[in-house]
Amino acid sequence: MRITRITAAVGALALAMAAAACSGGSSDSTGDGTPFPAGSTMERLYEAKRLRVGTKFDQPGFGLQQPDTGVIKGFDVEIAKIIARSLGIPTSAIEYTETPSTIREQVLQQDRVDIVVATYTINDKRKQVVDFAGPYYVAGQTLMVRIDDTSITGPDSLKDGKKKVCSVKNSTPAATIVKYLQDSAKQLELFDTYQKCVEELQNERVDAVTTDNVILTGLIASNEGQFALAGSPFTEEPYGIGVKKGDNDFRTFINDALEASFHDGSYLKAWKLTAGKFDPNDPLIPTIDRY
Ligand code: GLU
Repeated sequence: MRITRITAAVGALALAMAAAACSGGSSDSTGDGTPFPAGSTMERLYEAKRLRVGTKFDQPGFGLQQPDTGVIKGFDVEIAKIIARSLGIPTSAIEYTETPSTIREQVLQQDRVDIVVATYTINDKRKQVVDFAGPYYVAGQTLMVRIDDTSITGPDSLKDGKKKVCSVKNSTPAATIVKYLQDSAKQLELFDTYQKCVEELQNERVDAVTTDNVILTGLIASNEGQFALAGSPFTEEPYGIGVKKGDNDFRTFINDALEASFHDGSYLKAWKLTAGKFDPNDPLIPTIDRY
């Protein structure tokens, strides 16, 4: 996947405005006051003035429910807000539904949400049942261990069959790690949420947690002094925005909105406000896959 580092957005205003015009669709194509094609998902959402978003509630930096206010904060939430704004929907009118990895396809298929923005890796298996806009970020799978454990240096350290690892059901890291295990029935514990894996690691019932580096970085930062990353990323996890299968116009619209955000500064601002707090590097801007 070709990726280019964000360069200063200064001077890109004209480009940003052009891109925003494409994404928003400024002409009234219906003649009845909505700026979107008649019968499109965009028109329906614009008229309903509501966007239903599936996201994570327990992943610091990407989607985390604040214990005091109940508000969900994170990069995925900010990406959802960028899409809401481009649809003309106030961000206060977004309704969030918790979508752990196990139910992301289901909530789209059952029309319980309009989009899923939930550290959701684009892959061919998932594309059989949902579609993806994006990617808007490319993560990579790695391992997290207790801070004083030097015995695990990467997935190969699991090959002797002695270590136990925790991950989440229906996640790509859970599927990938199996290749490094002698006996996954004994070595792999699967839960619905990463928070559960954190508890398992704290209680020494497992030796490692595996998922995307950015999720682990958030967990490390919010459990200070307890955990560390072990080794480097060993997969590519391009994060997409899940939409109902076959809604190509909506997918194109979201892709346009994402591309506009890459140029107008709102993407970088969203990152710095959230996951960027745990990561000194600006994200690499992915190339949108308009399949
Ligand atoms: N990105 C991976 C996936 O979509 C892991 C993160 C997650 O479970 O949300 O399966």
